[in-house]
Amino acid sequence: MSSTVITNIASLVTNDPSLGDTTPLGLIQDAALVVDGDRVVWIGESSKAPATDNRVDAGGRAVIPGFVDSHSHLVFAGDRTEEFNARMSGRGYSAGGIRTTVAATRAATDVELEAGLVRYLAEALRQGTTTMETKSGYGLTVEDEARALRIAAAHTDEVTYLGAHVVSPEHADDPAAYVALVTGEMLDACTPYARWIDVFCEKGAFDGDQARAILTAGRDRGLHPRIHANQLSYGPGVQLAVELDAASADHCTHLTDADVDALANSRTVATLLPGAEFSTRAQWPDARRLLDAGATVALSTDCNPGSSFTSSVPFCIALAVRDMGMTPDEAVWSATAGGARALRRTDVGRLTPGAYADLAVLDAPSHVHLAYRPGVPLVSEVWRRGVRVH
Ligand SMILES: [Zn+2]
Repeated sequence: MSSTVITNIASLVTNDPSLGDTTPLGLIQDAALVVDGDRVVWIGESSKAPATDNRVDAGGRAVIPGFVDSHSHLVFAGDRTEEFNARMSGRGYSAGGIRTTVAATRAATDVELEAGLVRYLAEALRQGTTTMETKSGYGLTVEDEARALRIAAAHTDEVTYLGAHVVSPEHADDPAAYVALVTGEMLDACTPYARWIDVFCEKGAFDGDQARAILTAGRDRGLHPRIHANQLSYGPGVQLAVELDAASADHCTHLTDADVDALANSRTVATLLPGAEFSTRAQWPDARRLLDAGATVALSTDCNPGSSFTSSVPFCIALAVRDMGMTPDEAVWSATAGGARALRRTDVGRLTPGAYADLAVLDAPSHVHLAYRPGVPLVSEVWRRGVRVH
């Protein structure tokens, strides 16, 4: 292995207050970072950097940890352009649209599904995402859910079993039988490929009792819970997430004061997905309320063909700052360290000695430009596991 110093960094986000300016971002001005193999081995001011085999000049640009996108649905086929177009012309969004993608996904070959996944992961990487969770949930049969997870597991470590996305069309008249399948034969087939289990707890999908049964069955098999909670309406999802010590409650758009308190007094991260509210023209989640209460907030894309077809974390940062009450610092923290918390990872989402050398170089002097210059492709270089990949 050879060591490389990246020097002449105008502003470096470490997400370690002890290394930088004592803010949560742990900012260092005029910084350098040393990579050895796949890890960061040194962080500090440029003038104090140790000798290394190679030297890269960042040219006065900003460096941030690679984004940790803890919520996406990338194993799918088909297209829902018409549905989006109709919605932007006045029609509402309901959980049922998922079935359109289910039909297309079941009809697709393994090669087609994998090609789509690879394409979207590459698209996200170019925009600075170096860790990406993805889910099943468009198969809804034992074979189709297991194949989605097998394909996902070949490309990312963060794989989530979401057989409980909606009740399958075959079980529309007998949801209890579908829950039995999801917690039985389907769980058996999917467990080898997944780290997480998820459920869409919502009217039109699964109620609180069904969600509890599904998540506890997964937990009994060694999968860790996370929940699609309180997206379209108030409901039991957030409380259930906290009760089960889920790593994350995702969406959190409709929260009671009790929900906010529960999150603030737990390890469960509130993962906000503003691409969904953007693409369904819905009410924004109130990040400010969660942050002021002391909850941990993550920001992710929810990339999926129905309700949020963006792989761009910078876009979500801009929305969160403009419309959800987050400061630029908070939004960048939530899209990096927050995402890592939502995946219970300490080796990504930060640039500190021992962490993976996963980072983005911005064509800007500071991370604030991600919100200040919305829609501009500021990510000019991406390093993953110590290798410049873009
Ligand atoms: Zn989702």
